[in-house]
Amino acid sequence: MLKIENLHAEIDGKQILNGLTLEVAAGEIHAIMGPNGAGKSTLAYVLGGRPGYEVTEGSVTFNGEDLFELEPHERAAAGMFLGFQYPVEIPGVSNVQFLREALNSQRKGRGEEPLSGGEFLKLAKEKAGLLRMDMEMLKRQVNVGFSGGEKKRAEMVQMGILDPKFAVLDETDSGLDIDALRVVGEGINAIMRDPAKGVLLITHYQRLLDVVKPDKVSVLAKGRIVQTGGPELALRLEEEGYDVVMADA
Ligand code: ADP
Ligand code: MG
Ligand code: MG
Repeated sequence: MLKIENLHAEIDGKQILNGLTLEVAAGEIHAIMGPNGAGKSTLAYVLGGRPGYEVTEGSVTFNGEDLFELEPHERAAAGMFLGFQYPVEIPGVSNVQFLREALNSQRKGRGEEPLSGGEFLKLAKEKAGLLRMDMEMLKRQVNVGFSGGEKKRAEMVQMGILDPKFAVLDETDSGLDIDALRVVGEGINAIMRDPAKGVLLITHYQRLLDVVKPDKVSVLAKGRIVQTGGPELALRLEEEGYDVVMADA
């Protein structure tokens, strides 16, 4: 589904990704772990097409299409969702307005009719329920005054509404307490655990992987994948740290 080959990328002339190769098949949840500064968020930004990140070598195909030929909104319409470590606040815009606009612009990109207000609210309510958020919360301004856990749950409600084919989730577990972690993890399972979908799940910690069981785990260090294994690799990293894997690399 997602095929990354020999990807090199830089920001402000500094090379961050350095020959990164990785494949995620349909039906696969692929966890990416790695030390701070390894390039994990950079990978997420490059996949999302964030300005300032320059790809200097290599390729990424998404369902056989050259990802870099697609503008960020076209990537979304093609079914790619990106969840970020630091969600933005949008004062003056409610979650309901924001989510409806996001869904309808994506539908438009696919040549589909927009959802009516009533249809949208029904969908929003269903997905909010999955994340144990009430509709009152969704009427508030986007992320303004939300706790870290509420921001992440709101982002997962967004993912549920957009119903992407592929999700890149960057440290969705950061700042979550144990209860929120379980709700968010179960939300990811409910929305994305599907033979036709794929997930790149970037995380520092094993604890999210206790809820969202990965099919594969890869270690990203110094801008490339240095090891890939099954779920046991995450447990080993938790016990032994990254030094062991880096020494193997
Ligand atoms: P990770 O998410 O794995 O912790 P990042 O992708 O955020 O790592 O960062 C990778 C490296 O890129 C780090 O060394 C970081 O300092 C550097 N970096 C990130 N953004 C910039 C920038 N705007 N200018 C220069 N270096 C940057
Ligand atoms: Mg980091
Ligand atoms: Mg990061």
